[in-house]
Amino acid sequence: MRSLRGDTWWDFRLRRSGNGWRRLVRRLSRLAGFGLMFSAGVWVGMLGRRAGSTALQVPAQAALRTGPSAETRGGRVRRLYLDEFRPRSELRAAQHIVRQARFPCVNVHTHPGGLSDEQIDEMVRVMDAANIAVSVSLDGRTGARLSEHLHRLTARHPNRFVVFVRMDYVGDGDPARPETWDVNRPGFGQRMADRLTDAVKRGAVGLKLLKDLGLYLRDAEGRLIRPDDPRFDPVWQRAGELKVPVLWHCGDPVAFFRPIDRFNERWEELYRHPEWSFYGKDFPKHQELIEARNRVIARHPKTTFICAHMADIPEDLTRLGQYLDRYPNMYVELAARVAELGRQPYTAREFFLKYADRILFGTDGVPPMSELIPHWRFLETFDEYFPYEDNPFPPQGFWNIYGIGLPDDVLRKVYYENAARLIPKVGEYVQAYREARARGG
Ligand SMILES: [Zn+2]
Repeated sequence: MRSLRGDTWWDFRLRRSGNGWRRLVRRLSRLAGFGLMFSAGVWVGMLGRRAGSTALQVPAQAALRTGPSAETRGGRVRRLYLDEFRPRSELRAAQHIVRQARFPCVNVHTHPGGLSDEQIDEMVRVMDAANIAVSVSLDGRTGARLSEHLHRLTARHPNRFVVFVRMDYVGDGDPARPETWDVNRPGFGQRMADRLTDAVKRGAVGLKLLKDLGLYLRDAEGRLIRPDDPRFDPVWQRAGELKVPVLWHCGDPVAFFRPIDRFNERWEELYRHPEWSFYGKDFPKHQELIEARNRVIARHPKTTFICAHMADIPEDLTRLGQYLDRYPNMYVELAARVAELGRQPYTAREFFLKYADRILFGTDGVPPMSELIPHWRFLETFDEYFPYEDNPFPPQGFWNIYGIGLPDDVLRKVYYENAARLIPKVGEYVQAYREARARGG
């Protein structure tokens, strides 16, 4: 599963076809001249006027449009729906389509859990072509299921995968009844810590946390469990003793915690995925989540925390830098945040230079080559204003990005040196990969 954060382009396609009936109604209704009224629900005033009232003020002839070629009629330019807007950049700047990482790379954030053997083979083919030495699967489960997952990934591809296990909140409880879950019984922390020890014996090299801690996971009374709840302390401590890192997705983009209104910079994304909104209800504020996570990091200085998605505050790299200064055991990885980083190239470049020892490479999902290329371009070139995904529609914010042209020493750290230092087995596997490549294998 790709994280809920990363909207893939086929996902978007599916959603579009899922909405096909509505589009058809809209098309037909436009033919009948009622289009703007029918689709008022998805209509956005691209020209910045008050949407609600202008819809009915548009001259009838604009609503009579019958196809994409009829952008104007009677000398008037019709209004556009935001989801129809596909500007084509006329910029003619240098382009470098980088297909391979310049140095062997470790992708610390992937989800190959649901792949068939053939799909795993294909994933490894893409890794070979893109110079990805090792992928970290974040889809491990505790117990026997971990051994199955490890076997499936490594049987035909030794040295190319390592696995993190997820926190097991349910245990032997009934998945449909949260009040029976292990996390809601006394002693959970110790039991989960022991499951982690068992997982490491079976070959796991880390613990993965999804954003459900803080946003979905509830106690027996139905209250959200806070990320810094003391019941988890034995788990964090055990991870430190076992010397395996905790990779933690805590939070989501700031815009997801704001009202879904015309000021929201990710409005079109939230329109497609209203279930991604954490505004209102009993959801914590974005900053409350970040601070709760930080308290855990502060309480367990001997445990390594790799905070996923640029610690879920890529929007504010100054603040993120302050956290990294404050917590030496905190690291970040950049999965699914190239869009955020690449729209602030000057700040992002400074950040990467200053915190080169603290940043790891990640993508999320199972990235095809088309998704890797923008990552290499962003990190290695000074290309300007290019799409952050090979996608006709920007899936995570309506903008293009810029490369930050990192120097080789920084690229080496971000691509593999940091991962090799923090994650067991990775250094050894990268070395094996380099030797195999040198032999032409
Ligand atoms: Zn993920």
